[in-house]
This record gives sequence, C-alpha cells and structure tokens, in this order.
Amino acid sequence: MLPGGFLEGATFHRSYAFSPLNGGHELMIAEVPETSAHLPDAVATILARTLSSLGDLPVTREQVNRLSVCDLQFLLRVLEVSFQPGSKWYTARCSSCEKRFDYEIDLGVLPVKNRGEGYPFAMVDVRTDKFCFRAITGEDQIALTQVKDETRARELLIKRCLVNPSLQTLEDDFIQTVLLSNAVINRVEATIDKVSPAITTTIETPCPHCHASMETHLDPYGIFDRNKDSLLAEVHKIAWHYHWSEHEILTMGQSRRHHYIDLIDRERLR
Ligand SMILES: [Zn+2]
Repeated sequence: MLPGGFLEGATFHRSYAFSPLNGGHELMIAEVPETSAHLPDAVATILARTLSSLGDLPVTREQVNRLSVCDLQFLLRVLEVSFQPGSKWYTARCSSCEKRFDYEIDLGVLPVKNRGEGYPFAMVDVRTDKFCFRAITGEDQIALTQVKDETRARELLIKRCLVNPSLQTLEDDFIQTVLLSNAVINRVEATIDKVSPAITTTIETPCPHCHASMETHLDPYGIFDRNKDSLLAEVHKIAWHYHWSEHEILTMGQSRRHHYIDLIDRERLR
C-alpha cells in the first residue's frame, strides 16, 4: 500500500504493484541518470517502466508524476530493497572524533511515517481565512527544475499547491505581500510536511571509535547509486559460459542469474 495514495475523481487509490523485475530493469535503472534531464525525470522513467499498476489505473509517466514526493520516494526504496534485500553497508565520518566508520542498515525494515489527517490536503490559516494546499507531487518537482533561484522556487511551489481559494481569485497585492511572505510560506511548508507521510531518511548511529551518537543521512534516491559494472560482469560471465545472448540473460530475474553464476563458479572450482 502506498503511504500517501492519490485521488482520482472521488476515489482514493493506495494500491500499487511492480512487474516481475529482471536484469533489463536493473540495467535501465543503472543507465537512467545518463539519459535523464534531471532527477524527477529519472524517477518518472524508472517507475513508469517498473510499475505494473497504480490503483486500478494504467501506469503512464503522467500518472507517476501525479504521485506525491513521499510516495515516489517510498516506491524507489521498495525497488532498491528488492534489488538488494537485507543489510547494506554505508560509510560515515564521525562529527566528534572525525574518524570514518562503516555501519549496516536494512532499508526494508525502516519505519514509514503515517500520513496525517486530511492528506493530501493541508489547511493553513491565512489572516482570517482557511487556505487549502495539497501535498507536493513529482509534477511540481519537474516544474521547479526550471527555476534556479531558491526563493522563486519556493514561491512557485506555494502557488502550485494552493487548491482553494484558487490563485486567480486573489488580488496580486495579497499574493505578493501575504501569501508569499516568508512567514506564510514557512507555515504552509511545515503544514504540508506534517500531513505528508515520509520514509526514514535520517538515523542515529553510535560512532564505534568514540561512541558519540551520530545522525546520518539515508539518501531516498539511493537506487541511483547502483552501477552497471557488476551486472555487466555477470552477464559477461554467463554469456561466455553458456553462449546465451545479452537479451536472454537480461530477461532473467536477479536470483536466477545469481544461481547460474554460482553454478559457473562451482564448476571452475572442481
Ligand atoms: Zn567518533
């Protein structure tokens, strides 16, 4: 189930399913950063090519981009875990003793913060009225890639996420001096954050050298760290041994591919 979910008409959808994943998906994910215009584009490409359903709707890039950022990050992490289940090693530098150390995390068991009441909408008092904003989506992130200035980007986001009253009904003067004031923008961002679910992106780890507690960051886009070298080395090894084509090998799931690698290695040891 998606931690957030999305509205289509009056129906709220929270179900999703991935296609059976194979080596072709792994290669696509490893190569996508080279061919994408920006991160949100890469995210949409990966999910549009790996998901088989979203609610009961067909999976298209447009539908993927309408998901909230938290759902997109959740789905990427599910994919990351399915390609590398179990514990993963990370390296950090201790902020107290400045020594480097390795630590182990199982991304699959980290908690996901629940969505708040009213999600995907967040109500904010602006002067004497209640304004309704919605959670940030992939579409918003794509629109923001066009804006280099951080202040302008925050303003654009507030305007895009305002659901009611509509922006067109507001006076320009009110928009500039009230709606886009720092205080209101901060409040809107905090309220949207509060109702939005979230995957775990920071954890406390004790430094093994000085035992100081360290807060370390877990990249929600860690799936982009996968490189294709080890995958292609496996394809090469199987192709060399069995004379199967790259296409045939990439249509196998990861566990079947690894099984053949084990068989080849065992044969070499005999
Ligand atoms: Zn330390």
